[in-house]
Amino acid sequence: MDFPFSEEHRIFRRSVRYFVDEEIIPHVNQWEEAGIFPKDLYRRMGERGFLGIRYPHEYGGAGGDIWSTVVFCEELGRCRSRGLAMSVLVHTDMSSPYLAKFASEALKQRFLPAMINGEKVGAIALTEASGGSDLASLKTTAKKKDGCYLLNGSKVFITNSLNADLFFTICKTDPSEGHRGISMLIVERGTPGFEIRKLSKKLGMHASDTGELTFENCRVPAENLVGEEGQGFYYSMQGLQNERFVSCVSFISSAQQALEDAIKYAQEREAFGQKVSEFQVTRHKLAKLQTKLEAARQLLYHTARLIETGEDATTEVSMCKAFCADVACEVADECLQIHGGYGYIEEYDIARFYRDIRLWKIGAGTTEVMYELIAKRMNI
Ligand SMILES: Cc1cc2nc3c(=O)[nH]c(=O)nc-3n(C[C@H](O)[C@H](O)[C@H](O)COP(=O)(O)OP(=O)(O)OC[C@H]3O[C@@H](n4cnc5c(N)ncnc54)[C@H](O)[C@@H]3O)c2cc1C
Repeated sequence: MDFPFSEEHRIFRRSVRYFVDEEIIPHVNQWEEAGIFPKDLYRRMGERGFLGIRYPHEYGGAGGDIWSTVVFCEELGRCRSRGLAMSVLVHTDMSSPYLAKFASEALKQRFLPAMINGEKVGAIALTEASGGSDLASLKTTAKKKDGCYLLNGSKVFITNSLNADLFFTICKTDPSEGHRGISMLIVERGTPGFEIRKLSKKLGMHASDTGELTFENCRVPAENLVGEEGQGFYYSMQGLQNERFVSCVSFISSAQQALEDAIKYAQEREAFGQKVSEFQVTRHKLAKLQTKLEAARQLLYHTARLIETGEDATTEVSMCKAFCADVACEVADECLQIHGGYGYIEEYDIARFYRDIRLWKIGAGTTEVMYELIAKRMNI
């Protein structure tokens, strides 16, 4: 059952589970209500080594493998706030990897240890109002002048907007070059000309702080360029692979929890003199969902093996993203139905899960875009 996890992974799993049970779950209702969770949570996760799982020891990382990341995502996925899980993963696996993978040694020394210990929080700013799927059409520009980039433009739907200190922002340094003219800059909170506005209401993911960013003649030091000029689009395409993979692991674990909740409810609730779980239609529904979740998990584990051996996993990651989002949304819909009217009110976690998980067909590349990527790789 525990294959492919080692004893070390099992110990790590226990420590993440303990943290989630003791330090997150008791507070999630309050944080969901507030639309944000305390920034201090990052510091506490940093102290336990959760924020630098795969980063080298020299920066304060744990030097772990992809399976340690899988363990972390699976356990975090059970915190009963997908918004919180998403925010944390934006920090650990969607923003800081750009620093670790592509940035200069000086930039790494400046920011990576602080991201690993949770002192500085990261956000990833790709999407603009004009469209998120077609990233190359972005309008934000950065002109190099006097040792700075003069940044102008805006970003929407940015997770961690209120808590983040470092915004990994893509922009056009050479608008005449299309996607080859895109670069990535780290914009620090508080830089003059950089404004952040909270997006007030969302369908779900309430504990995650989402915002809009505007840059008006914002002077970003030239040394805040991540890697090389003109490589931002390629970095983002690589980064999105990790982003899609980790979030799928986390949300499938969350969907498994939703199914377990529904089983428990069906075994307790009675209708027409018998348990809801005794109706064959319910039993088959639950069995079908477990089968799909197992298929999703095996696709994720297969993809993790490819990532571990350094093989190109673009097709598999796209399949994970499209398939896992569909499965998780189906679990949400069917499990809410099993709860009857109680599923529609906030007393049970299923209502929140239903609202939260719908994002997953949209965020980090829509399902349609994923099938486009798969079709292209099938040469059709
Ligand atoms: C809560 C939340 C958090 C987010 N967090 C972040 C974040 O931290 N950082 C960030 O940069 N972005 C973030 N996003 C943005 C998210 O990644 C985008 O919303 C997503 O990529 C889709 O872009 P869009 O909304 O502009 O939709 P569009 O690109 O306008 O797409 C609209 C519709 O057209 C379809 N479509 C587009 N292109 C094609 C095609 N080629 N073939 C078929 N159909 C197509 C899409 O599938 C979709 O159904 C977040 C969004 C939300 C809602």
